[in-house]
Amino acid sequence: MIVSKKEDGSMEVRENVERFLKKEGINPESLVLGEQVHGKRVRVVNKNETGKVLKNTDGLITSSREIVLGVLIADCLPVSFVSENICGILHVGWKGLQKGIIKEALLKVEEKERVENLFFEIGPGIEMCHFQVREDFAENFEKDFVGKFLKKKENKLFFDLKKATKKKIEECGGKKIKTSDICTFCSEKYFSYRKGNITERMIALIKL
Ligand SMILES: [Zn+2]
Repeated sequence: MIVSKKEDGSMEVRENVERFLKKEGINPESLVLGEQVHGKRVRVVNKNETGKVLKNTDGLITSSREIVLGVLIADCLPVSFVSENICGILHVGWKGLQKGIIKEALLKVEEKERVENLFFEIGPGIEMCHFQVREDFAENFEKDFVGKFLKKKENKLFFDLKKATKKKIEECGGKKIKTSDICTFCSEKYFSYRKGNITERMIALIKL
């Protein structure tokens, strides 16, 4: 997975996307994006969709070597997976996680590839140090899941989105999982929504 940085500019701006892809040696016309809504919809895409932004979509999967898949992020996690035959990328915030985007994506993968063959990457995103959540946050999730990823500090509650995401991948049969140790809020090199970058975004890319 390739992730842009602040220095590449905000990826809400199309020219910045094109410049970044060219810098990485990728044809911008091969890009497919989703119009992210913190949902769980995952689309399997083919060559007809290159250059498009797909409505109501937070996850993309393809078997085509002519397509590059992307998600825009700033604190939410980019989660990619790749094998010899298939690749995919997901936009994972707590809402998508709660709605089940990981399972949704991996059920689609299973039609073509064994989940245990995938190499997963959980990219830069907000870490527990800066992800304060509401007191009743656990009520959003099924019982017994989220408690392990919550911690109380000075009367504030914090959530470990990366570890919770990793756990969900493992529950679906994922075995090879690499997690970035970059907190987008802590790091000066990345945009962070919670730190005040309301409109700026990074792009994360995956390609077969
Ligand atoms: Zn942090």
